[in-house]
Amino acid sequence: MLLTDQQRYEFKISLEKVKKHEGRGTELISLYIPPSKMIFDVTSYLRNEYSQSSNIKSASTRKNVQAAISSIISRLKNYKRTPENGLVFFIGHRKIGADQTSMVQYVFEPPESVQTFIYRCDSEFHTQPLDEMLEDKVTYGLLVLDRSEATIGFLRGKRIELVKNLDSLVPSKHHKGGQSARRFERSIEVAAHEYYKKVAGLANEAFMDEENFVGILIGGPGATKNYFLDEDYLHHELRKKIIDTFDTGYTDEYGLRELVEKAKDTLSDLDLMREKRLIQKLLDEIRKPDGGLSTYGEEHVKHTLTIGAVDTLLVSEDLRKSKVELKCPQCGQEEEGIFAETPKDYSCKKCGKEMDIVREEDLVKELFQMSEAVGTKVELISGESEEGELLKKAFGGLAAILRFPLGRGG
Ligand SMILES: [Zn+2]
Repeated sequence: MLLTDQQRYEFKISLEKVKKHEGRGTELISLYIPPSKMIFDVTSYLRNEYSQSSNIKSASTRKNVQAAISSIISRLKNYKRTPENGLVFFIGHRKIGADQTSMVQYVFEPPESVQTFIYRCDSEFHTQPLDEMLEDKVTYGLLVLDRSEATIGFLRGKRIELVKNLDSLVPSKHHKGGQSARRFERSIEVAAHEYYKKVAGLANEAFMDEENFVGILIGGPGATKNYFLDEDYLHHELRKKIIDTFDTGYTDEYGLRELVEKAKDTLSDLDLMREKRLIQKLLDEIRKPDGGLSTYGEEHVKHTLTIGAVDTLLVSEDLRKSKVELKCPQCGQEEEGIFAETPKDYSCKKCGKEMDIVREEDLVKELFQMSEAVGTKVELISGESEEGELLKKAFGGLAAILRFPLGRGG
């Protein structure tokens, strides 16, 4: 199942909340149920865990673990059969204050199939298998080379990753005297041949078994890269995956970045490129004396969105802002606040008791909903590109490209 941007975003912020919780000892239970596992098998497994837990020495831990297990068992009763991709539970007592705990419960039907059954009691929730489902799935291989140096890397989603940098040690063609010109010529050709073989070997090693591998981009100055390809150094399986070659000035890690930059049009459907173009468009508009087709800042963006003036909404993936209303169950104290990140605990200022979240409005979720109502496109911009960083730092993570100009202050 492919997630929409909104689903991916909501999934991501839910997981961020799960990760924040800390438990005492082993009071947080993470349970991953693969689709092949029958609900009643899980239930009997948990019943067994429940009776095992009577051996836990600490009375309060025992009580909390058993409460968590019971809660999962009762929630499982809502399922006649295991959902298509399985089920994931995070349930347990999180620490609040000095010696208080409070039960938290999360249930996920994941976007991809749960691979293995996991039952884990720990002081934190085990979210790694779900985190992996949210990672970018597409990978490109990068290779830049000339006669003196080669660098191998990956482009994963928007991230450039260095795998290996190699110096050739092939002497330059300038004859230094001493041996005969022909012998010298031959020896450097032998060295070059060995070097190309080594580069090809490293590329095979890196790219061959890579999952979700889409293709290879090759770069470098001059004709060396073409010679390398024409002489069939690369494994034939990899040759088939070459997307294109590009001239780059560098063959080091910077060369990898140059290569991705040069391959821009070729990889135009890649998100990084789309992001770069979107932010560039925004900047072009902002530079116009009347502000052109641009606006930024929460208040302006919301206003223009409401009147249907926004063509594309640009939201930084890292933007976290929510309006929270809290109420103390013990003394009735009420509070509200705007948080850039969800606080670890909401203890009542008057009596110290954990407050209940009565209402929580996530800004990005709200923006998604507003956009949907007026047919505005939402683009989530990662913080991984320079442009994405700029959106975050210079514009508070939120900007819009407009359908029609409103003028400054509009
Ligand atoms: Zn209170």
